[in-house]
Amino acid sequence: MTNIKIKPWISSLPEYIPGGTIEEIKEKYNLKEVYKLASNENIYGPSPKIIEYFKNGFSDIKYYPDSYCRQLRKKLSRKLGVSGDSIIFGNGTDQIIEMVCDAILCKNSNVIVPDPTFLTYEKSALKNEAEVIKVPLKNFRQDIKSIIKSINKDTAVIFLTSPHNPTGTIITKEEIECALENIRKDILVVLDEAYIEFVPEKYKVDSLKYLKQYDNLLIMRTFSKIYGIAGLRIGYGIGSSEVISNITKLMQPFVVNSIAQVAAILSLEDDDNISRNVDTIIKEREIFSRRLKQEGIQFVESYSNFILIKAGGRSTKIIEELMKKGFMVRGGEFLGFPGYIRVSISLPEINKMFTELFINLYREYNS
Ligand code: PMP
Repeated sequence: MTNIKIKPWISSLPEYIPGGTIEEIKEKYNLKEVYKLASNENIYGPSPKIIEYFKNGFSDIKYYPDSYCRQLRKKLSRKLGVSGDSIIFGNGTDQIIEMVCDAILCKNSNVIVPDPTFLTYEKSALKNEAEVIKVPLKNFRQDIKSIIKSINKDTAVIFLTSPHNPTGTIITKEEIECALENIRKDILVVLDEAYIEFVPEKYKVDSLKYLKQYDNLLIMRTFSKIYGIAGLRIGYGIGSSEVISNITKLMQPFVVNSIAQVAAILSLEDDDNISRNVDTIIKEREIFSRRLKQEGIQFVESYSNFILIKAGGRSTKIIEELMKKGFMVRGGEFLGFPGYIRVSISLPEINKMFTELFINLYREYNS
């Protein structure tokens, strides 16, 4: 046992168990093909324009990146119709979540999160010794009324996610408006929209419009999901310029590397690729859901690029058998839903293979 004085909050954290890699699974089970459906990435990958651009190499990597992401900022601010100084970029939205907590939370404050939810919120709050108030989901959805009721004088941040991870459910326009109207203005409402592009238009809430009225709102989005560049680590937040400039002061200057900046710019220039991918993923999600329904397998109706499925008491065995056949999925026990699995929507032929294999295993282990 080490004598190094590790901070007590770190020792009390659960061990971080990294997801497996494709190479690792290939080697373990002697497989030629492995399909990673475990981390909600966009299996369709990035815009072909990015691949084309980088064929000639990376000319400027001897220099530090532009710490203010000027070109990207200009492009994104135009696209979103917000001012450049209301945007913050980070090494993934993960880092922005951490910075938000670092800037606001302390020992005597608390943060409210839906439960279960994306784990980074809790971890970043604990790092700042803040209390974490967990409000259970209701029927797999975030319970906005109970979240509002849980606010007390020390509440400093509330995390909401739409679509929610790991359920894929959304927060409606009425619920967002109810939250913003009823939450005190000294509490930062973080609306994490990492998966917003996968929501069909008729259910999409134009959250950006609330920024004019509510300077305690911070919206977070990412290039890791629909834009297909998770490996480059870049995400962003949009909020009041005053809040953003204070959080920015905490950031290390070069967290967004130059390759990620160029790739993000090229991604924003390829709307056709995005809408094609969105259409296919939504269509595939519907096919997948229909097939599960036919089989009487319970799942949560998803508005995202993944589905949470009830696999039953022997879900661990099902996950292992899927892995042996080259399909990596995320076990629900890591996500607050034991007995469930979370599966990313993939290419049509892979989805088809997965669905039939899963249904067979489901029948075998639930009979
Ligand atoms: N928010 C949610 C809800 C997520 O599921 C994820 C990634 N799984 C993130 C944020 C982080 O995304 P990134 O750091 O890749 O931008």
